[in-house]
Amino acid sequence: MTTIQQNIDAIRRRIAETAQQCGRSPKEIRLLAVSKTKPVEAIQKAIETGQCLFGENYVQEGVDKIKYFDTTPDGEWLEWHFIGPLQSNKSRLVAEHFHWMHTLDREKIARRLSEQRPATMPPLNVLIQINISDEQSKSGIKLVELPELAAQIHHLPNLKLRGLMTIPAPENDPARQLAVFQTMTQAFNQLKTAYPQIDTLSMGMTDDMDNAIRAGSTMVRIGTAIFGTRDYTL
Ligand SMILES: *Cc1c(COP(=O)(O)O)cnc(C)c1O
Repeated sequence: MTTIQQNIDAIRRRIAETAQQCGRSPKEIRLLAVSKTKPVEAIQKAIETGQCLFGENYVQEGVDKIKYFDTTPDGEWLEWHFIGPLQSNKSRLVAEHFHWMHTLDREKIARRLSEQRPATMPPLNVLIQINISDEQSKSGIKLVELPELAAQIHHLPNLKLRGLMTIPAPENDPARQLAVFQTMTQAFNQLKTAYPQIDTLSMGMTDDMDNAIRAGSTMVRIGTAIFGTRDYTL
C-alpha cells in the first residue's frame, strides 16, 4: 500500500470514529479528496482505494485532470468538485466539465453557469459559499444574504442547489471553532425546510475536520492529510 492509500484509510477511520463518538452514522459524511497541485498519478493511487470524489481549485488544472481520467476506465464513476474562487470568464469550463461547484456567491455567476451547462448533462450541483467568520475575505456571502441568493439559484433550470459550504478563519480555541460550525449547521437546517432537496453541508479541512463533523458536516474536503503538503513553487 502506498502512503496516499494509507492516508486515505486513516482519514476514513477518523471520520468513522468521530462520527460514532457524537452519535452520527459515518455514512452521512462523504470524503472529498482535494487534489489541487497534485499529479494524476497521485489521484490514481486514491482511486485504487475506491475514492471517487475529487476537489480542484484551479479551473484549467481541474479540466485537464477530468479530461485525462475520462480516457481511463475509472473516468465514468468519478465525481469532480470545483472548490476554488471562480471568475465569470472561466464559468463555461466549470459548467461544461464539473459535477459540483462549492463556491457560488453571486447571482451573475449562477446565471452564467446555468446558461452554459450543456443540455446533455444533468444539472450542475451547487453549494452557496458562506463567509462565516472572516469579514475581510472577498469570498462567500453573509448569512443574511442567503435567502435571496438561494431563491435566485432555485429558479435556474440547469443548477441544483444542494446546500452550503464554508471555510472558517483558523481558530485555536476548539469551543469557538465548534460554535462557528454549529452556526453553519443551523443555517443549513433552516434552508432545508425551504428547499427539501438540500442535503450537503461542505465544511471541514485537514486541520478542523473533527469539529466540523461534530457540528454536522456532511462532506469534508481533505487535501494535506491525504496527499501531503502542497508545493506552489513548481
Ligand atoms: C485546499 C483546500 C482544501 C484542503 O485543505 P487541506 O488543509 O489541505 O485539507 C479544502 N477546501 C478548500 C476550499 C481548499 O481550497
